[in-house]
Amino acid sequence: MEASVTIQTRSGSYVVTAGTGIRKQVIKYLPKSYESIYIVSDQTVADLYLEDIKKQFASNQVDSYVVPSGEASKSIDQYYELITDALEKGLNRHSLVIALGGGVVGDLVGFFASTFMRGIDFVQMPTTILAHDSSVGGKVGINHALGKNLIGSFYPPVAVIYDVETLKSLPLREVRSGYAEVVKHGFLEGESFFRDVIRADLTKPLDERTLTKHLLQGIQVKAAVVERDERESYHRMFLNFGHTLGHALESELGYGTWTHGEAVAIGMLFALKVSQRTFRVDLPYEAYYEWIKTNGYPTVLPPLKAESLINKMKKDKKTKNKQIQMVLLKAVGHPVIQQMEEEFLYNQLKDFLGE
Ligand code: NAD
Ligand code: MG
Repeated sequence: MEASVTIQTRSGSYVVTAGTGIRKQVIKYLPKSYESIYIVSDQTVADLYLEDIKKQFASNQVDSYVVPSGEASKSIDQYYELITDALEKGLNRHSLVIALGGGVVGDLVGFFASTFMRGIDFVQMPTTILAHDSSVGGKVGINHALGKNLIGSFYPPVAVIYDVETLKSLPLREVRSGYAEVVKHGFLEGESFFRDVIRADLTKPLDERTLTKHLLQGIQVKAAVVERDERESYHRMFLNFGHTLGHALESELGYGTWTHGEAVAIGMLFALKVSQRTFRVDLPYEAYYEWIKTNGYPTVLPPLKAESLINKMKKDKKTKNKQIQMVLLKAVGHPVIQQMEEEFLYNQLKDFLGE
């Protein structure tokens, strides 16, 4: 099975193709031919899939570079090393860079591609579920010691080649992390996509047809939002549904304690509760809660203080005039940005934490 969507950007368009085994036919999906190919991957992914890609090109045409697996590779040092290696290997503006891996590789390599010789073409080959989110939308970047993703740019790939077969080797925890963002796209899109996503049983091997459908639908939701508002002036903030508390939790617990998706999954639960109380609407809180619980997402919060979480939430990039803004739902498929009264939010959070 194979399917594709075309994404429009300010500077043109690119095609996202998802399918089973398509990593073995990379050339078919490239928009043009290139003088040389430079594949960058992380150690885990390289051990599994690098050779599949490399062998499709003549040996004098292809080079590769492998970074350590994990968030630490989104660093200025790793970026600099990548540039040095690319220069030594003679990469130029007629070369193509392929980012083979999850969001870490995609963000690092995309940023590298956006700045190397003022920008060279790059292709995203996502290998995680989370990367359905990170590989489209054009944001690329690395971390600074003072914060995540603080150094970056907007730089779309020339193609996204998403081989869902590679997702079979993902650890369950990474599947869960990525699916939280798929559900988020469901919440933003509407009842039917949302209901379809929460039918997924993540504890069993994923059915490739369903997975391909969910990933492409998620990509379409994200793409539609980004097409409306590439530079995040308003609508793009919707993609932060569940992230105000999610980010605060990640930061309070220490990055890496919970996966991003685990934190966002709880963040969405909280956002649903707050939405219900703010707009007096009925949302599928129970159905969603059941889904995260049966799929093994943490549903019991560690003993954290509402006050320290609120302080973290204030650091959210949506905060305006010191007031926390949350993405809430008036209905599934109807997100809004809401200025939050601090006392109300504090009480909601205390209640949620069982304080
Ligand atoms: P990741 O790239 O670190 O991958 C998670 C882990 O899975 C890694 O250890 C990796 O080696 C391993 N892995 C990857 N593919 C595998 C496979 N097929 N089989 C087995 N193991 C595999 O993390 P991620 O969750 O994909 O992405 C997280 C990053 O994405 C964060 O840095 C985040 O900031 C970024 N992100 C960016 C955007 C954006 O718009 N640019 C959006 C969301 C997230
Ligand atoms: Mg996210």
